[in-house]
Amino acid sequence: MGKSKISANSVSGHRCRTIAVALCIIFYFECTPNSARNLSFCPKSLLLSLLIQRNATNYLSSQTNFQRIIPLIPYVQVIRHIFFFTILCTYLAACQDDDSIDFIPVYDVPEDYQEIVDLFVDEAAVRGIELTIDNLIVLEDPDLPFDLCGSCNASDLNIKVQRIVSIHPRRCWPNNLQKEALLFHELGHCILGRSHTSALLPNGDFKSLMVPSNIGVYSPCVYQFGGAADDCNFTFKRTYYIDELFDPDMPIPDWAR
Ligand SMILES: [Zn+2]
Repeated sequence: MGKSKISANSVSGHRCRTIAVALCIIFYFECTPNSARNLSFCPKSLLLSLLIQRNATNYLSSQTNFQRIIPLIPYVQVIRHIFFFTILCTYLAACQDDDSIDFIPVYDVPEDYQEIVDLFVDEAAVRGIELTIDNLIVLEDPDLPFDLCGSCNASDLNIKVQRIVSIHPRRCWPNNLQKEALLFHELGHCILGRSHTSALLPNGDFKSLMVPSNIGVYSPCVYQFGGAADDCNFTFKRTYYIDELFDPDMPIPDWAR
């Protein structure tokens, strides 16, 4: 559950910004006033070529003409700074657009799962959290590994990416509360941005519904092998686990002390 698969589109903006900053830094430091070897590739040489109405490369090929450039260098320094910040800001703005303009979230939840998504929103509201879910696809994916009941593609809320909860078609839940726990766990990733935790409560029970590969933390009995009838009934723990889902700092419940 909750296998994080960040899409390539989601990192393009970060990569774009990194490349832009790197290019600008190289551009800036390579184009120092004394760096005649790269001068023809620098903004200042292009400006100089405009100023003196001549081709920059030809101009620099002449030592005499290069001497004539030197008095212009203080002005070129100012222009260089303006160029640098203009180009940097332009690149960064373009990268930002890459993330925000191209992304249009889709909401597509089959009827079979919609009821649980609605319940997730209701449980949040009961706890004072207003959730509007407009970026969510729930689908059954036969390509999921067999031992995975479900998966969310991205749990980092800072990344603008289509949120997709994939469910294995074998439908591994033996009862509706385990189906709910599976969906709530995946929505914990996709909507709340929560990560896995295998922390334990004092009695040895898992602390959170965000434990990997366990959708039975508040399940009713599935199989009963002797013992008291309620020994395998954990439904009384449901309130705590949903409280903790929306607030990881929830105090330890009495039943776990
Ligand atoms: Zn998970």
